[in-house]
Amino acid sequence: TREVKSDLEIAQAAQMQHISKIAAKLNISEDELELYGKYKAKLPLHLIDDSKVNANNLVLVTALTPTLAGEGKTTISIGLTEGLNKIGKQATAVLREPSLGPVFGIKGGAAGGGHAQVVPMEDINLHFTGDFSAIEKANNLLAALIDNNIQSKTRSLNIDPRTVIWKRVIDMNDRTLRDIVIGLGGTPNGIPRQDGFNITAASEIMAILCMSNDIADLKRRLGNIFIGFTFDKKPVYARELNAEGAMALLLKDAIKPNLVQTLEGNPAIIHGGPFANIAQGTNTIIATKMGLSLSDYVVTEAGFGADLGAEKFLNIKCVAGGLKPKAMVIVATIRALRHHGGAPANELNTPSCDRLRKGFENLAKHIENAQKFGLNPVVSINNFISDTEEEVVLLQSLCAELGVKAVPTKAWAMGGDGAMSLAQAVVEEVESNNNNFKQLYDHNQGVKEKIETIAREIYGADGVDFSKQALADIKKIESLELDKLPICMAKTQKSFSDNEKLIGRPKGFTVTVREFEIAAGAGFIIPILGKMMRMPGLPAVPASEGMDIDENGVITGLS
Ligand code: ADP
Ligand code: MG
Repeated sequence: TREVKSDLEIAQAAQMQHISKIAAKLNISEDELELYGKYKAKLPLHLIDDSKVNANNLVLVTALTPTLAGEGKTTISIGLTEGLNKIGKQATAVLREPSLGPVFGIKGGAAGGGHAQVVPMEDINLHFTGDFSAIEKANNLLAALIDNNIQSKTRSLNIDPRTVIWKRVIDMNDRTLRDIVIGLGGTPNGIPRQDGFNITAASEIMAILCMSNDIADLKRRLGNIFIGFTFDKKPVYARELNAEGAMALLLKDAIKPNLVQTLEGNPAIIHGGPFANIAQGTNTIIATKMGLSLSDYVVTEAGFGADLGAEKFLNIKCVAGGLKPKAMVIVATIRALRHHGGAPANELNTPSCDRLRKGFENLAKHIENAQKFGLNPVVSINNFISDTEEEVVLLQSLCAELGVKAVPTKAWAMGGDGAMSLAQAVVEEVESNNNNFKQLYDHNQGVKEKIETIAREIYGADGVDFSKQALADIKKIESLELDKLPICMAKTQKSFSDNEKLIGRPKGFTVTVREFEIAAGAGFIIPILGKMMRMPGLPAVPASEGMDIDENGVITGLS
């Protein structure tokens, strides 16, 4: 057996260049950089050039319905960026920042894997440039202002504490904070009420930062945050607490994208990190536009499977940011296809053409969905050591039957060298002009109609059931005149349906909208399908137990 180095060992062995060298590749002078040490810098917003945003080429990387481990979208996004640069294209990866919850919990960090990573990996996975802390503070400032107003005798907005939906946040998996009581201890300590914490990545401030086009837009969205109702049932927004100015102050640096580098010294912009099952799941509009202003190709990722991240990327982010992707890559692993073909968890690495053939129906549906957006996807077969040649050839022929190219990609093992054919296939797609992105639904349609379109067209559902609560919520959304906002579905990532056990391509099912959440500031409404968690817990053996740092500052155990 060949020795496999850990992601951290590979990252630590990298010879990083000073970030000004990376910036120079994007024609950014050293003077423009806001340096955070030698290897990280923030980019000023004036570098965004709207005339270049749609002239250059946006490539969206998504995936089939994933298994627990993740199928390698970040890894392939970084590898593809290296591959594009290797074949002579100027390309930048534009990605999300990892959350500390998964870093210390189960999934680990999110800076790529193997020989396709962004560095400094430790910093990116830990505090990075402090954006998550700023988001947390802005979120919690609003929370403090709300409770201060409830306490106030002279400036009361008459907020009914039982209707407050705004929660506090922290970037940590801590289940004990999900439901708490605040304000205990008598009159000086506020009015007691039930409250709770979400994880920072699930904060509406995160969603707002990612949806904003500039500082003015950021402030407008912060002011539009819906907090709850007064005792006489009038809606209350953050602007009524004069909160948006101070919140924007706290976000003044967080709004600027962060420049780092890939292992092969190509530019990577990392900015924002909303989860894709409960939020929109992609980096900031500002970062994407920054990348497109500075380089010919931008490779970006949308979280989880294409039914979640890509659908929201295309129907929400692209519309809000005026973005038009020119190619889509669907990452597939033989492992996940075996899973969708019925392989139990302990046989995911056992070769099986039969399971692969059966599981292919999952990928086929994602391919069909891409075409509904006017995109002709390229499938990247993210190569694992357990893949057999026979399976790879079978997968390529199954994709060919649908008119889609499937390219074996060895970015994890080989970096850019392993992704040059994928890069070539992506360039061919872009240059073919066959990709004419169109959104799936019109934002002006009714709430139910929009949800039904997503459920039928993307999930393959027969229809949508709305609970009594959901119907009442729709009335509320209409009375608040928020019904013209796009839909940000909150659904399990493990299935096209709302039942995580239905693998492959489920048929003959309906999905149920249990209730809605309102993100008036971010500018979308969130139907909740099933039970969604906004504050994860740690597993029995947290990843944190294996982590350490020695007296020279060398970190071990981060993955
Ligand atoms: P995603 O972005 O889809 O969630 P990642 O790119 O973060 O997935 O990859 C998930 C995990 O799988 C990472 O730990 C990564 O190192 C690992 N991984 C990705 N591709 C491969 C591969 N081809 N072989 C082995 N491990 C891989
Ligand atoms: Mg990822």
